Amino acid sequence: MNENVSFYRDTWAEINLDAIEYNVKSMVEHLGGEGTVIAVVKANAYGHGDYEVACAALEAGADMLAVAFVDEAISLREKGMKVPILVLGASRPEDVQVSIDYDITLTAISLEWVKKAEQFAKEGVLQFHIKLDTGMGRLGITEKEELDELIQFAADSSSLSVRGIFTHFAAADELESDYTDCQFAAFKKLLGGISNKEWLIHCANSAAGLRFKDRIFNTVRLGIAMYGLSPSKEMNKELPYSLQEALSLHTKIVHVKKLPKGGKVSYGATYTAQEDEWIGTLPVGYADGWLRQLKESEVIAGGKRVQIIGRICMDQCMIRLPEKMPEGTKVTLIGRQAEEYIPIDEIADRLETINYEIPCILSARVPRMFLRNKSIMEVRNPIIQSHSASKG
Ligand SMILES: *Cc1c(COP(=O)(O)O)cnc(C)c1O
Repeated sequence: MNENVSFYRDTWAEINLDAIEYNVKSMVEHLGGEGTVIAVVKANAYGHGDYEVACAALEAGADMLAVAFVDEAISLREKGMKVPILVLGASRPEDVQVSIDYDITLTAISLEWVKKAEQFAKEGVLQFHIKLDTGMGRLGITEKEELDELIQFAADSSSLSVRGIFTHFAAADELESDYTDCQFAAFKKLLGGISNKEWLIHCANSAAGLRFKDRIFNTVRLGIAMYGLSPSKEMNKELPYSLQEALSLHTKIVHVKKLPKGGKVSYGATYTAQEDEWIGTLPVGYADGWLRQLKESEVIAGGKRVQIIGRICMDQCMIRLPEKMPEGTKVTLIGRQAEEYIPIDEIADRLETINYEIPCILSARVPRMFLRNKSIMEVRNPIIQSHSASKG
């Protein structure tokens, strides 16, 4: 591994691109092999690394990419990505020309937006999808009249081209809820009369793709399930195929010391050794996204679960070891080590949040190591980008 190291600290995230590929392939097969998979790689691919995840997803059969903001789409283009990229969020009409220049597909959220967008399209044609709000209450058109007028306006304009139409579900991950049925009905009603076969019609996020494959226009905007995470805990029981978690997080013990009975650990001196104890210091802290609320949570050291003790610092935290361990011992904070496994869901539970948030909050200071066939394909370290090795 050493000849390929492009970071100089003992904390790193591993992104298993084989798992991404497996998760995408599974969805492609689930859709019967003929569906459209839009790989959602917003927020740096939910913290995993947008370019590498996008490449793996496309290789596995995804057809296009989606992000939240124009900057994210430009970033992918700058890295050499050629496939269609859809910006799901609300973009500023002022940014229409740059979007045309980069061949980025935007989302139209209202007739007013489209009229403004047209004014900013000076050269070339803006491609966009129309967003319908069927009950999320976030972005999009709710009225058929406005939709019809928008479609007519775009048809009459030489600088606008509609490429698709979509909506977003608010509760597709809730097994007991019938809210998605209402949204499906509202979507169908708004679509009534639209017969443009060139348009991509889509409504499903991961949850809807996994659960309602016969009702989703054979298209899925695949986010969380591509990363191997279940859209909700309750869905874990009813997945049509198993998911493989792609991200794991590791560090190494950088200092080991014996703390005498009564000795204290970390800020506030809140932890007191109950007996003579072995303490290991880990070079990972809340500035990496390993938040302070994770105090007293467990990590895996030497194949065993051990506890974090004392307050988590900005760059470091301490663990209590069952026995003396050598400095350099690998510690797994998320993922598998020996017989033990800490899933992202466990961290989410500790933080009283959803699994989505956990990889997203891993900061840019944590280098991402991309694995294929268990070997390192590439390392990305945004904070010293120019040193990043690339074997890809
Ligand atoms: C983020 C996002 C998705 C992906 O949702 P998952 O639950 O992660 O599959 C799909 N559609 C839109 C509009 C989104 O913003």
